This record gives sequence, structure tokens and C-alpha cells, in this order.
Amino acid sequence: MHAQILVTSISSPPPSILEPVRLAVSQAFGLAASTAPLLHDIEFAYHFSRNQYHSTAILAALDQAATNQWLKILALTDVDLFIPILTHVFGEAQMGGRAAMLSMYRLADGLPDAGSGSIFSQRIVKEALHELGHTFHLKHCPDPACIMHYCRRIKDVDHKDQSFCRYCRILLDEEIARLARR
Ligand SMILES: [Zn+2]
Ligand SMILES: [Zn+2]
Repeated sequence: MHAQILVTSISSPPPSILEPVRLAVSQAFGLAASTAPLLHDIEFAYHFSRNQYHSTAILAALDQAATNQWLKILALTDVDLFIPILTHVFGEAQMGGRAAMLSMYRLADGLPDAGSGSIFSQRIVKEALHELGHTFHLKHCPDPACIMHYCRRIKDVDHKDQSFCRYCRILLDEEIARLARR
């Protein structure tokens, strides 16, 4: 299996966090990860009445734009995302599919100005790994410390660890092994 994960930015220029996210992805999933441009124009997903972008439409476009070389795609953006049933989402992923995305737009909420860059980075990395986890069929986990725990509020993101619980780790490793046998 030449399994590669693409870590890409929809914002231009790409944020400096892209490389730390790539590294964290490669370590967490035990797969090679690269950064490259993929999709820039997401105006098709813009909803004027909400002044937000529909994440499901962007996920479909990411999946369509990426060649077969990429096992999974993780996109970072700085625009505000929504799905119709919610006021906003931090990110969204195709369950068991290829595409996941994360918005940094709301992850700076509640941060003091000085010395908070590392908390902001940790939030981005955690939620990026969370969304990518869904593409490996991982569901939401009841363990509040697990990366797959669903965080509705930003302080819940700060409380969880940057790792999968033992249970999610087993499911993830099984899925990665299954993909390797294809
Ligand atoms: Zn989730
Ligand atoms: Zn878990």
C-alpha cells in the first residue's frame, strides 16, 4: 500500500500550522503524509444568507479533485463552516470516506492575546486528527480525554488529549490494517 495522506490548505497563503499538522497526522496514523495545494475556489459552497460555507459541499469537491494517489485528504481552512442542522461546525468528515476538513475560524475563541499560540495550535491539531479519524470509520467516543470525543464547546477541546483512547486506537489500527490488505 502506498498510503499517503494529503494535508492541504484552502486558505492562501497556507497557514504556518500546516506543517505541524502534517507531522501530527503522520505520527498519529502511522502513515506518510504530504502537504500540497488541491482546492482554492470554494465560492460554490458559500451561502450568502448565512455568510458561511457549507462543509459537506467542500468535502465532495475535495474528494473529486484528489487523484487516487491519496488515501485520505485533510483540508484546513479559515472560513466559517456550517451544515444545515447546526449554526456552525469546527469541521466535518466523510465517515469512512476520503475527505475531512477543519476550520480554524472558531478555534481562537476565548484565547488571551499573549502566549496563547500553542493552545491555538493544539486545538487545531486535535480537531484535525478528530476529523481525519472519522474517515477511518471512527465514531464519537464517550471518553472525554479521547481525540474522538465530540466537543461542542471549545473548552472541551482543551480538556481532551492529543491521542486516541485504547478502544479507538484498536479500531483505528484494525481499519489501517484492512486498508493495507486491499
Ligand atoms: Zn466528530
Ligand atoms: Zn476513544
